Amino acid sequence: MSSAPAPAAAPSVIARPWVVIKFGGTSVSRRERWENIRRIAAAHRARDRRVVIVVSALSGITDQLKAIAESRGDDARCREVQAAIVERHQAMRAELGLDGCARMEQRLADLDRLIADPRRAQAAVAWQAEVFALGELMSSALGADFLDANGLPTQWLDAREHLRATPIANHSAWARYLSANVPAAPDAQFASALAARGDCFITQGFIARNDQAETVLLGRGGSDTSAGYFGALLKAEQVEIWTDVPGMFSANPRVVPEARLLARLDYEEAQEIATTGAKVLHPRSLGPLRRAGVPLVIKDTHRPQLAGTEIRAVAADAAPCVKAISARKGVTLISMETVGMWQQVGFLADVFEAFKRHGLSVDLIGSAETNVTVSLDPTENLVNSDVLSALAADLARICRVKVIAPCAAITLVGRGMRSLLHKLSGVLAEFGALDVHLISQSSNNLNLTFVVDEALADDLIPRLHALLIRADALRAEDGAVFGPSWRELGADAAAPVRETWWMRERSALLELAAERTPRYVYSLEAVRAQARALRALGAVDRWHYALKANPHPAILRALHEEGFAFECVSTAEIDAVRSALPQLAVERILFTPNFAPREEYAQALAAGVRTTLDALHPLQHWGELFRDREIHLRLDLGVGRGHHDKVKTGGASSKFGLALDQVEEFRTLARRHGARIVGLHAHLGSGILDAGHWRAVYAQLASLAEGFSRIESIDVGGGLGVPSRPDETPLDLAALGAALAEVKSAYPQFHLWLEPGRFLVADAGVLLARVTQVKRKGAVHYVGVDAGMNSLIRPALYEAWHEIVNLTRLGEPAQTMVQVVGPICETGDVLGANRRLPECREGDVILIAQAGAYGAVMASRYNLREPATEDVR
Ligand code: PLP
Repeated sequence: MSSAPAPAAAPSVIARPWVVIKFGGTSVSRRERWENIRRIAAAHRARDRRVVIVVSALSGITDQLKAIAESRGDDARCREVQAAIVERHQAMRAELGLDGCARMEQRLADLDRLIADPRRAQAAVAWQAEVFALGELMSSALGADFLDANGLPTQWLDAREHLRATPIANHSAWARYLSANVPAAPDAQFASALAARGDCFITQGFIARNDQAETVLLGRGGSDTSAGYFGALLKAEQVEIWTDVPGMFSANPRVVPEARLLARLDYEEAQEIATTGAKVLHPRSLGPLRRAGVPLVIKDTHRPQLAGTEIRAVAADAAPCVKAISARKGVTLISMETVGMWQQVGFLADVFEAFKRHGLSVDLIGSAETNVTVSLDPTENLVNSDVLSALAADLARICRVKVIAPCAAITLVGRGMRSLLHKLSGVLAEFGALDVHLISQSSNNLNLTFVVDEALADDLIPRLHALLIRADALRAEDGAVFGPSWRELGADAAAPVRETWWMRERSALLELAAERTPRYVYSLEAVRAQARALRALGAVDRWHYALKANPHPAILRALHEEGFAFECVSTAEIDAVRSALPQLAVERILFTPNFAPREEYAQALAAGVRTTLDALHPLQHWGELFRDREIHLRLDLGVGRGHHDKVKTGGASSKFGLALDQVEEFRTLARRHGARIVGLHAHLGSGILDAGHWRAVYAQLASLAEGFSRIESIDVGGGLGVPSRPDETPLDLAALGAALAEVKSAYPQFHLWLEPGRFLVADAGVLLARVTQVKRKGAVHYVGVDAGMNSLIRPALYEAWHEIVNLTRLGEPAQTMVQVVGPICETGDVLGANRRLPECREGDVILIAQAGAYGAVMASRYNLREPATEDVR
């Protein structure tokens, strides 16, 4: 028997792939979390995978061990923390149903010994490393016993026996012991030796051993790093980082609920995102995996069914695209100014030598003829010592030094950043209004960073994220790169799809389309429903419909019946109202023109229409027209708001409204002509979803109005937005009503007017078009339709996003990413970029939603193509 050949196990042993799964502190701190770990590991085992489980210390334990290291002379404090650590681990052992745990007891004894160790007095770094390592040694010991006792035979592995750190030149003792490096590369011998021992192991994150066999640590985020090292050593099939979020996001989801899950990234992008702010993965873990070619997946412990974020050598999509925006706070800028730097050989060398001497690693660099500015990340070194003043003192010998802090580095990350610049105009405009200290574009073309005052970051990031999506720089619709938004993931998965009137009337719409396309179809019921929602806001004394949005006579009549007056910007609009509603009292019309010719004011006044001026010119040059008339004054309150720069109607770069510094002159001119200013007005932009906007405008106008003698009404404009994209939050009408009522209670003497357009009609209209042709160019699929930018110019003009569906195939799986384009000879004739639609065929009916506002009314006969006709239901 003894001479029988060894079982031919070895080849299959090696063939079975390894999976490394890592769990952080909160994932190992409760029994149910350990049950979860067991399930995940067992599932891998069931697929015939070998498993290495890497764990962190129980949550909070590393901090307590740090408290022991910091207690030095304070023995009472030290013993108190020690007792808490012992109690916590004993409680965990009991919770796991273990009678004993010899390995854990051994570590608790080690803690006692280390507290008595004379090295404690100096908190020697080698001693600190031994103390901190105990947390992981204990949690993994508990885990091994629990898994073993619960049906998953698991062996405990001392990570230090396999992770050997090598010192790096220039590294301080602190870094060598507390932030060490392990040159981990695939090691087939180690993999097969381990395979010969078993199928499932549990080991520690965060710890390794140096050449002198001393314990060392892997720095912050060390457990991720350990998983990376083990993944590389074993050349694992995959490393999984199990955490409390579903993966990496296009922005910090707690600040930007619309942030998209990043479904797939390449190593460099993930590294960049992890380095520039995302906390979910430590950037150090990626290096060894990239070199070994091992993919890494981030998964949500609570929702293992979600795919998470997958990081591998080649991401799904190589097209340039912003993948994420992040903010790193606590950044310090050092600005170094010298008059003599120009052509001064060695200045930079001298400067950087000083940074090196103080152990500071520079991140961003900006340089000019006489100035070089660099940024420093908030390293422990920087935060915990007075290294900065020492550095500044050194630098002061060679240049003038200015320290700017605290700053935030706002970084856009994505491959091919330089080729995306044309899509970043909105983002750049946001920064244009701020004091940007430094801009840096990484030489690997993966990031673009703006350094601003730290206090600005939290407000800025959500706005920039929305702008990136709107400009299609962050192609949120591309399912190969992006997953659902944080908000969607948090929402009740069973929440019904929002049902629109056009879904209910699908067959009627298909019949209409069968007769003729392209055509707009409006639902009067939908218009009335919006009107009623607004009329329910008590504080408003008079609602006007801004008919520029859609002057269809049936809509004007419906809104008149709903109690609306009308706001017009041309005499032709006044005529349109009067012809649709011949009985309408003329005082129900408000004329708010801009740069209109003299005759239009004359006509409006002659007809008795209330007229608004927004410049000095009419009073300066045609003053007699306004003699003894009541007039309204439109003001520019200095800033514009809205969904796109082109719809912002405030601020110096907008042509609307009288500047505040000309109000006195306007009043003098009005007085001279006996014109009475009875109303103040401001409309600062369109597509605003924040109720606070009107509160601010109202309060500002009302306070100005108190300085006038005859003001009766305050018109706070229109601009009420409706969400376009699924992840936009609707305007909170209740909040709007409350905000308006609040201001009104302070200024009850003025009537409050509003004049929305878009809000009333946008969702009430759809544009029906028919597929003309489909085409593929490389990876890009085009679906051509018979409606172009001559029917609906908003996407081309404002980069507006309209929902687009294939009405013929509504409900079929939308698999193909397409560009929906029209027949007009313009590259900009794109109705919807990067949309997922079911396979489209010639003749299919395509519905472009939310086309009731600024659709047909802006149409043209460009290319001599007749624009879409209009129908009302
Ligand atoms: N009032 C004035 C003076 C406007 O210029 C506009 C739009 O341009 C509106 C109201 C209506 O804006 P919205 O359709 O965004 O409500």
